[in-house]
This record gives sequence, structure tokens and C-alpha cells, in this order.
Amino acid sequence: MIHVTKTFFPPIQEYQKQVQRIWDNQWLTNNGELYNELSKKLVHYLGAKHIIPMTNGTLPMQIALNALAEEGEVITTPFSYVATTSSIVWEKCMPVFVDIHPEYLSIDETKIEAAITSKTTTILATHVFGNPCNIDAIEKIAEKYSLKVIYDAAHCFGVNYNGQSVFNYGHVSTCSFHATKLFHTGEGGAAFVQDEETLHELFYRHNFGHNGPMEYYGLGINAKMSELQAAMGLSVLPYMDKIIVERKKVCDYYDAHIDFSTLRKLKLRENTEWNYSYYPVIFESEEDLLEAEAALNEKNIFPRRYFYPSLEELPYVKTNNCSIAASIAKRIMCLPLFVGITPNQKDRIAETLNKIK
Ligand SMILES: *Cc1c(COP(=O)(O)O)cnc(C)c1O
Repeated sequence: MIHVTKTFFPPIQEYQKQVQRIWDNQWLTNNGELYNELSKKLVHYLGAKHIIPMTNGTLPMQIALNALAEEGEVITTPFSYVATTSSIVWEKCMPVFVDIHPEYLSIDETKIEAAITSKTTTILATHVFGNPCNIDAIEKIAEKYSLKVIYDAAHCFGVNYNGQSVFNYGHVSTCSFHATKLFHTGEGGAAFVQDEETLHELFYRHNFGHNGPMEYYGLGINAKMSELQAAMGLSVLPYMDKIIVERKKVCDYYDAHIDFSTLRKLKLRENTEWNYSYYPVIFESEEDLLEAEAALNEKNIFPRRYFYPSLEELPYVKTNNCSIAASIAKRIMCLPLFVGITPNQKDRIAETLNKIK
């Protein structure tokens, strides 16, 4: 049976070597040696500025909103994982959905200004499938209206835009290091920020608000990454270049062997060095998608309808009728993409899809 993804497991000896260091240090969390080493190595590998590793990829979004969004209206995309919207609502802000671009699949920047009100504080947009939003246009709008920008960059490990890490854009970019993501620490994630002031605002919030053992800067929560998570990160990181190369090969195979006469691919933004994180295909209709899904399932292949449904359909939000996102969400599916997928499996996937039409 194959699924949309398969977690990369580094050789167990390498993980054991890292875990041994934890035992030697007798230190499990709070500014540990492995945590510090991973932070340094990630910033260096990615070409990012400042990182705060955390327990998952959702808390950095909540903490960033807590620091920047002031319980106001947050302009966001309906085409993302549920965590993007739930974080907004969890932080007592109001999500205001703006429809997506039909090809890039990220928020349609030309529709943002019409959604701005006196209560708008923040834009929280997702670089869907690692494909950057129109960062330049969003930056201009944010400047004009004095808004904060947070990017849900959960899919963006290793993505560069205009020659630098995509994490170097926005006031905060958040990433997920979940087991299903490109780089992982089992569960895990991070906030990336551009300046010391924002770093401080997010750092104390992710550590109970502490300013030393007896004093507090303000309200906080616990989102600290532990040494056990850092051990996995240090074991996976050396493989990232190879992982990305292997995934590119799978994508190239699909590009060459799938008949795209009635299917559409994601359109990558110009000036992007992509990370091959997902292989979404868009069908002409939901019926076509369901037919393809059933045919693949019959061969024990389980692609994922990602993202479905459109987040406007969540029971705890007010809808703004983003018809493009609603339509895409019904017709998009991510094909299996992972290191170690066999030629036979890739063949079966392409053949099955090609037989549908
Ligand atoms: C995975 C994901 C998240 C959540 O990350 P976790 O590490 O699972 O908390 C948020 N946004 C998007 C777009 C994601 O794909």
C-alpha cells in the first residue's frame, strides 16, 4: 500500500548517536546542546536570519498572531491546512477570506485591498505547496496600510525566492517539521523572523513569558522544542540535499509520463527555487477526481485530497464566498511523492491516471 507520503527515517545508528549525547548531557529540554546546534545548522542551511524552533508548526502561527495581530481582522486564504484558519480563531482574531489565484493557488493579491477595513491588522497567507505568494505585491499593500505579514510557510523548507530563503520575507514565517513534511523532527516546527525585536516578542511568548526564572515580560505559552526532537532533526538534516534531488526525480517522472490533456499542474511563481514538496494535480471536475481516486485506491495507492475542503466551509467561520478556492479544493489531489517510491509504483500511478480519460 502506498500513501501520498512516507516519512524519511535516517539510519537508526545516526539517531542513536544523537540520543546518546542527550544521555551524556543528562539534559532533555530548555536551551540544550542539540537544540542550539540544530538552530545554528538550520539557519545556515536555509540562509535564514533568526529561528525559534518549536514543538510543532501550528504554535508559531498562534504565537505570531498573538504578538502581531491584536485580536483584529486577519486577511487570509481559504486554500490551506486547517491550522492556518484555526490559529486565527484560536487567537480571538477574525479570519477574512480572500480568494486564491487559479494557477498559483496562493492568495490573490489583487483582491486583498478590497478586504481591508479599519479593523484589519494582519495578512496571514500560505505559500501553498512551497509555491511563494506574490510577496512583492503583498509587501507593498502591507506597507501602504501598515499591516503585519505572517506567512504560513509550513511547506517551504529549502525554498528560495529571488535568490534567498523564502523564510526571509514577512514579519514572521512559520514552518512545520511534522513527520509528513519535507524536513522533520517527528513533531516540530519553527518561527523565522527578520529582526531582534520580533525575535524577542516571539521568544518570550514561546517560553511562558519568562524573563529569567522569577520575572515575566508578559503572557506566554510553552512551545519549546525538546532535545529529543532536535536529535531527530540533526539526524535528518544531513540528508536534505539528497532528499530534494530524489523528489525532483519523481516529479520529473510524473511530468514526463502523465497525460496532461485534461489535468492541470501547479504553476510555480517566477524566481522560485522550489523544493518538490508536493505533486498536486487538478482535475476538470470532482467526478473525474473521484473516478481517479477510486481507480488508484483499487491498486492500493492512496493519494490525498489536499486541501479539502476549502477552509471557508469550517463550522466556526463566516464565509466570504471564495468560489475559486471552493472549486479547486474539490478538484485537487496530491500524488504519492517520497524518497524510495519504486519505478513500478510510479508507473502504476501514471498508467492508472492516463487510463481514466
Ligand atoms: C502541516 C501544516 C501546518 C501545521 O503544522 P504542524 O507541524 O502539523 O502543527 C500548518 N499549515 C500548513 C499549510 C501545513 O501543511
